[in-house]
Amino acid sequence: IYGSERRNSRGHNLAVLSHLRPFQQGLERWAEHQWKATPIVNGERCDSNSRTRVTNPHNRDRVAGEIAWSRQDIVENALSTAHQAFESWNRTPAEERAKYLEAYADLLEANEHELIALCSREAGKSLPDGIAEVREAVDFCRYYAMQARRQFAEPMEMPGPTGESNEYYLEGRGVFLCISPWNFPVAIFTGQIMAALAAGNTVLAKPAEQTSLIGGRCAELMLQAGFPPGVIQYLPGDGAGIGGQVLSDQRLAGVTFTGSTGVAHHISRTLAAREGPIIPLIAETGGQNAMIVDSSALPEQVVKDVIMSAFGSAGQRCSALRVLYVQEDVADIIEETLAGAMRDLRLGDPIRVETDVGPVIDQEAYDDLMKHVAELRERNRLVGEAPLPDNAEKGYFVPPVAYEINGMKDLDREFFGPILHVVRYEARELDSVIDEINGAGYGLTLGIHSRSESSAAYIERRVKVGNTYINRNQVGAVVGVQPFGGRGLSGTGPKAGGPNYLPRFATERVRTNNT
Ligand code: GLU
Repeated sequence: IYGSERRNSRGHNLAVLSHLRPFQQGLERWAEHQWKATPIVNGERCDSNSRTRVTNPHNRDRVAGEIAWSRQDIVENALSTAHQAFESWNRTPAEERAKYLEAYADLLEANEHELIALCSREAGKSLPDGIAEVREAVDFCRYYAMQARRQFAEPMEMPGPTGESNEYYLEGRGVFLCISPWNFPVAIFTGQIMAALAAGNTVLAKPAEQTSLIGGRCAELMLQAGFPPGVIQYLPGDGAGIGGQVLSDQRLAGVTFTGSTGVAHHISRTLAAREGPIIPLIAETGGQNAMIVDSSALPEQVVKDVIMSAFGSAGQRCSALRVLYVQEDVADIIEETLAGAMRDLRLGDPIRVETDVGPVIDQEAYDDLMKHVAELRERNRLVGEAPLPDNAEKGYFVPPVAYEINGMKDLDREFFGPILHVVRYEARELDSVIDEINGAGYGLTLGIHSRSESSAAYIERRVKVGNTYINRNQVGAVVGVQPFGGRGLSGTGPKAGGPNYLPRFATERVRTNNT
């Protein structure tokens, strides 16, 4: 089940100058490049008059490229192409399908510099985040290829007590709509599509509007890897429009979505109102993630892990830390150390190696987060703040901040950015802290810092989340190592990068033969 014969991709040690220099030279080639994305149907680019120029989130004066959006007729063509391509793709042996996934993984690695540069230019991703992004995508491909071979290649023999033979097997469902988020524009875009394809489905790939250049480049690489053109249709466009057209269509066989809880509810309601077959929704949504720090924790380690969990990727991960619960006895020292570490955070051009935190994704995110910061400033005590970079006004820079609040109940929703809320608690209040976290209804990640094994085990058991991290940061789940996903308002499961993911994209069959 765990795939010990498979290895995850290798990283880069940018602290070593002889690694860093060639890496930076590789990125430089893409510094001025302009990308162009269009819908792709049956392997053909489909241009359209509705286009948008894409600028860099860290500097609006710089252009990354241009996107042509999908028209209704393009979406209709995509649906009928994917529908027609399904039968033959579903009959393609799992071994062959797995080889396409691996060929695409190799191309991701071969085009790593371009993808990392593009992630920084279109999504504001820092260098380490860009590297991690491509690695995770590669890992998804190789992990799902392995799972396809294990779970889809041969039927499973069941007992045949009466002399009949019984075989259980999995196959694709049909056309899957894969709706991916802007915060992991290579990794999650890739993971969803590869899982659907590995299981024998054909795909309509709908990227987030904000990262459609990146999705377009990945879709091109998928086709270059040799996937039959009919199996992947690339549809950049507005979510409501494409969703409205596709979700009720009888040719659709399943949906996978990563994004906000609100949109997942909307998709779920739309699917519930459909006539005809009932189709699955796999949703990975938001979180109101907490970390609980008790008085036995090591303050320096806590602060290092809080910085990474709350402010890494500018807080734009659904796994990110939002509410830090610190036991009174250590709260002063932790807050003080945290404030010092925050003053040292460097914001700036995400592609530069010295940058710790890049911009947030767009104007809308910036306005929403700054409004929340202004409200916090009015009523709450500031714990720490990072300085803004020079020329911050050219981009969407939200300075990482930490404010004390009374409890999770002060927050009516998730704030998707570098804003940390700190709650001080007394030892006797631990159970109410746990109830408060569970009461918010989310269930994605939890951090625990404690040197008492029994306390950590007690908290781990009682807080109902998908992924708990003890004495470390709580972001960056590794494919095949920390299968990732939540419960409740955080999603339906199964966990991405885990052993039960592919079967959810499939339909189960049993063949009983009395011949
Ligand atoms: N898998 C990512 C992590 O563990 C988060 C995914 C997301 O933000 O959607 O940090």
